Amino acid sequence: MTPAAPEALTDHRLGGVLEIRWSDGQVSRLGHPLLRERCRCAGCEQQRRQGLGPTAANAQLRLVQIDTVGTMGLNLQFSDGHGRGIYPWAYLRQLGGL
Ligand SMILES: [Zn+2]
Repeated sequence: MTPAAPEALTDHRLGGVLEIRWSDGQVSRLGHPLLRERCRCAGCEQQRRQGLGPTAANAQLRLVQIDTVGTMGLNLQFSDGHGRGIYPWAYLRQLGGL
Protein backbone atom coordinates (compact mmCIF):
# COMPACT_ATOMS: atom_id res chain seq x y z
CA MET A 1 0.00 0.00 0.00
CA THR A 2 1.38 3.40 -0.92
CA PRO A 3 1.35 5.88 1.92
CA ALA A 4 -1.26 8.61 1.74
CA ALA A 5 -0.04 11.78 0.09
CA PRO A 6 -0.85 15.29 1.25
CA GLU A 7 -3.45 16.95 -0.96
CA ALA A 8 -4.13 20.27 0.72
CA LEU A 9 -2.59 22.39 3.43
CA THR A 10 -4.63 24.95 5.31
CA ASP A 11 -3.03 27.10 7.95
CA HIS A 12 -5.54 28.42 10.49
CA ARG A 13 -3.20 30.96 11.98
CA LEU A 14 -5.69 32.59 14.32
CA GLY A 15 -6.55 29.30 15.97
CA GLY A 16 -2.99 28.03 15.64
CA VAL A 17 -3.85 24.89 13.72
CA LEU A 18 -2.26 23.46 10.59
CA GLU A 19 -4.70 21.29 8.69
CA ILE A 20 -3.49 18.65 6.23
CA ARG A 21 -5.91 16.79 3.99
CA TRP A 22 -4.57 13.46 2.75
CA SER A 23 -5.24 11.49 -0.42
CA ASP A 24 -7.12 8.84 1.57
CA GLY A 25 -9.60 11.44 2.82
CA GLN A 26 -8.19 11.69 6.34
CA VAL A 27 -7.54 15.10 7.86
CA SER A 28 -4.80 15.94 10.35
CA ARG A 29 -5.29 18.99 12.55
CA LEU A 30 -1.98 19.87 14.18
CA GLY A 31 -1.62 22.62 16.76
CA HIS A 32 1.25 25.02 16.10
CA PRO A 33 2.61 24.67 19.67
CA LEU A 34 2.53 20.86 19.37
CA LEU A 35 4.49 21.03 16.12
CA ARG A 36 7.08 23.21 17.82
CA GLU A 37 7.40 20.78 20.74
CA ARG A 38 7.84 17.84 18.36
CA CYS A 39 10.55 19.49 16.27
CA ARG A 40 13.21 16.95 15.32
CA CYS A 41 16.03 19.24 14.25
CA ALA A 42 19.53 18.44 15.52
CA GLY A 43 19.30 21.04 18.29
CA CYS A 44 16.00 19.75 19.65
CA GLU A 45 17.10 16.12 19.40
CA GLN A 46 20.26 16.90 21.32
CA GLN A 47 18.20 18.62 24.00
CA ARG A 48 16.08 15.45 24.33
CA ARG A 49 19.15 13.23 24.49
CA GLN A 50 20.46 15.37 27.33
CA GLY A 51 17.23 14.70 29.16
CA LEU A 52 16.08 18.29 29.01
CA GLY A 53 12.86 17.31 27.30
CA PRO A 54 11.22 19.16 24.48
CA THR A 55 10.93 22.90 24.52
CA ALA A 56 7.53 23.66 25.99
CA ALA A 57 5.80 25.95 23.56
CA ASN A 58 3.33 28.46 24.89
CA ALA A 59 -0.17 28.48 23.47
CA GLN A 60 0.41 31.76 21.64
CA LEU A 61 3.27 30.35 19.59
CA ARG A 62 2.47 30.33 15.89
CA LEU A 63 3.86 29.12 12.63
CA VAL A 64 5.16 32.05 10.62
CA GLN A 65 6.35 30.21 7.53
CA ILE A 66 5.62 26.88 5.87
CA ASP A 67 7.84 25.62 3.06
CA THR A 68 7.73 22.31 1.27
CA VAL A 69 11.02 20.42 1.11
CA GLY A 70 10.87 18.67 -2.25
CA THR A 71 8.42 15.80 -1.90
CA MET A 72 9.78 14.93 1.50
CA GLY A 73 7.77 17.08 3.87
CA LEU A 74 7.66 20.53 5.38
CA ASN A 75 10.12 22.96 6.86
CA LEU A 76 8.28 24.94 9.53
CA GLN A 77 9.30 28.26 11.01
CA PHE A 78 7.86 29.48 14.28
CA SER A 79 7.23 32.82 15.91
CA ASP A 80 9.93 32.13 18.52
CA GLY A 81 12.52 32.25 15.73
CA HIS A 82 12.99 28.49 15.56
CA GLY A 83 12.89 27.19 12.01
CA ARG A 84 15.35 24.39 11.38
CA GLY A 85 13.02 21.43 11.73
CA ILE A 86 12.05 19.26 8.78
CA TYR A 87 8.79 17.40 9.22
CA PRO A 88 8.50 14.41 6.88
CA TRP A 89 4.93 13.68 5.74
CA ALA A 90 4.87 10.33 7.53
CA TYR A 91 5.86 12.07 10.76
CA LEU A 92 3.11 14.67 10.31
CA ARG A 93 0.57 11.89 9.86
CA GLN A 94 1.85 10.20 12.96
CA LEU A 95 1.56 13.45 14.95
CA GLY A 96 -2.04 13.70 13.85
CA GLY A 97 -2.70 10.22 15.22
CA LEU A 98 -3.24 8.63 11.80
ZN1 LIG B 1 14.16 22.12 16.61
